[in-house]
Amino acid sequence: MIVVEHRYLGHSGLKVSEIIFGNWLTLDGQIAEDTQAACVRAALDAGITTFDTADIYSRGHAEEVLGRALAGIRRESLVIATKVCLPTGPGPNDRGLSRKHIMESCHASLRRLRTDYVDLYQAHRFDGNTPLEETIRAFADLVRQGKALHIGVSEWTAAQIEKGQELARPLGVPLVSNQPQYSMLWRVIEPEVVPMCERLGLSQIVFSPVAQGVLTGKYLPGREAPAGSRADDAQGSRFVSRYMSDTVLERVQRLRPIAEEAGLTMAQLAVAWVLRNPNVAAAIIGASRPEQVAENAAVGGRRLDDSIMKRIDEVLDE
Ligand code: NDP
Repeated sequence: MIVVEHRYLGHSGLKVSEIIFGNWLTLDGQIAEDTQAACVRAALDAGITTFDTADIYSRGHAEEVLGRALAGIRRESLVIATKVCLPTGPGPNDRGLSRKHIMESCHASLRRLRTDYVDLYQAHRFDGNTPLEETIRAFADLVRQGKALHIGVSEWTAAQIEKGQELARPLGVPLVSNQPQYSMLWRVIEPEVVPMCERLGLSQIVFSPVAQGVLTGKYLPGREAPAGSRADDAQGSRFVSRYMSDTVLERVQRLRPIAEEAGLTMAQLAVAWVLRNPNVAAAIIGASRPEQVAENAAVGGRRLDDSIMKRIDEVLDE
């Protein structure tokens, strides 16, 4: 039986499942709530214990759906992560990383998630208009109040992470994670962010590991996107479009024989590829159907050997 393994998050004692289920677009109207709940159940069945969401996803609805789907499950068996920063309303204080918005948004997230605390509270983006001292102090206060157990960031630069950690450490509440985009098609974090995080004790928990579906190989060059896929969805297609050139889609098809040789599906190859990076604690997968969760999580524990990695590099470097 395949088991989803757990890894330590940064220099903390918290263990996260190396596959995390995230509910961004999947819970934003593209699919019905019962399908969303089925995806969460499939995640739990596959041994996923860690769930990622955000205050902004579907204007809070994603947190509500996740809270309902996880209701009744022993809280201690779950690791729940959410985020704050992006606009949640029209008001001047409905966004950013001010003390006011962090406190108010955290309270609203806890209500929607039906929990007294989140295991990981993340700054969704950097806020250059709020003093970083104010932000880190507010995060540390949430930890002291028991409303968040650990703090992290998302899509911060290496320099922003360094400054944040400088402020967080003396408060006894170090940053433990960064949540960046990372996949075979998006390797921006490799030169600076990863080395900085290794030095400062943060892990990456990476989003869009299958490049929003593109690395599953289901989008073929010169062909229409399959009906019902993210690229076929009015909202989703805005995000997938960056990958939809024939050059990229042709390169992705050249990964197919490598996946077959490794005995993996293309989605599993993509997930295993991000997990081979020792600074990556987890891949945050999305899904529009429970079968996708089962398939992608079934990579659990599988490590790509050097010959497979070399062949992937050859395709990516072409
Ligand atoms: P993925 O790269 O895992 O893409 C998921 C989508 O790809 C699915 O919804 C599905 O879309 C398609 N897919 C996945 N597996 C398969 C499969 N086996 N076969 C066919 N299609 C498949 O990640 P996401 O982009 O969804 O991001 C995952 C999570 O990361 C989010 O939910 C969120 O928690 C987090 N995130 C964080 C961000 C941040 O700024 N911090 C930004 C973005 C995401 P479909 O079936 O509709 O084609």
